[in-house]
Amino acid sequence: MAASVVPPGRGARRATTDDDRLVFETTEGIEPVASFENMGINDSLLRGIYEYGFEKPSAIQQRAVMPIIKGRDVIAQAQSGTGKTSMIALTVCQVVDINSKEVQALVLSPTRELASQTEKVILAIGQYLNIQAHACIGGKSVGEDIRKLEHGVHVVSGTPGRVCDMIKRRTLRTRAIKLLVLDESDEMLSRGFKDQIYDVYRYLPPELQVCLISATLPNEILEMTGKFMTDPVKILVKRDELTLEGIKQFFVAVEKEEWKFDTLCDLYDTLTITQAVIFCNTKRKVDWLTEKMRSSNFTVSSMHGDMPQKERDAIMKEFRDGTTRVLITTDVWARGLDVQQAMMLS
Ligand code: AMP
Repeated sequence: MAASVVPPGRGARRATTDDDRLVFETTEGIEPVASFENMGINDSLLRGIYEYGFEKPSAIQQRAVMPIIKGRDVIAQAQSGTGKTSMIALTVCQVVDINSKEVQALVLSPTRELASQTEKVILAIGQYLNIQAHACIGGKSVGEDIRKLEHGVHVVSGTPGRVCDMIKRRTLRTRAIKLLVLDESDEMLSRGFKDQIYDVYRYLPPELQVCLISATLPNEILEMTGKFMTDPVKILVKRDELTLEGIKQFFVAVEKEEWKFDTLCDLYDTLTITQAVIFCNTKRKVDWLTEKMRSSNFTVSSMHGDMPQKERDAIMKEFRDGTTRVLITTDVWARGLDVQQAMMLS
């Protein structure tokens, strides 16, 4: 290890990432690598990783980083909270050639938040490499995208719609892209991005390396892996381990949107609920449901991405301490939620 590398510092980040309970089914010959130093990664990158607060690779990082760096196609079954975003950031930083100003890695994500988060982690971990990354996401100025892309970036992290648009405008040049990462692939397909993903793929060079990350592997995903990938390394969580012990899952099929609120009230009347988290698809729905539950005399807290971080932290603390019993939130902020005894409704 080079002298410039900062040793693991105090105040290191903590992840739910080193989960010994998970049993992986990994392609034969792929052994986990338990330290960042043994991964053969660039010293400047190593320094960025330690400075970011990581000491040792998480379970998925131990298995997926090496095959990706070595140029293999990889299917990794991983959810948020496992260290997958940093795994993407790390591998992307390692594979790009900093001396070229062309886009060499493209990461597609289902949400703008995730695409921006990935960009941030790439910039943070890759700061000593001087890596240039850009989040190409809907809802932001096209002009800014054009300016950034023309100036030259090594990595683009984006949502399929905007990326596809930028490629078709020829603002995002694809000829030097060697790595495509499809993050939360199941989520991308369920959000209707299939056509755009296939569209983007058609514009990429034929000798492309593809990494697919997904929490679940439904048929549509397997179909995509069949079309896009060559002899992929598979890092899969064994089926039995997908749901954790102590968690029971039920669903209530509610035919009409208007019936949902009454169904929720029925659940409250019938069950003894210590604590519950209710997930909604939109911030507006969070506000609406909070209002509606309050007017029906429920004491509830709510949280979403428009709130300042301090307020969000305070609400999470109250919930963890048990001061509040019902938390209504959007799924974007479900990341890192790890609350015992809570019932999750969505
Ligand atoms: P992710 O699944 O990438 O969203 O990561 C979940 C959380 O774990 C984030 O707060 C990361 O910063 C953190 N994390 C990821 N990898 C590691 C690691 N190797 N060591 C410690 N924390 C990590």
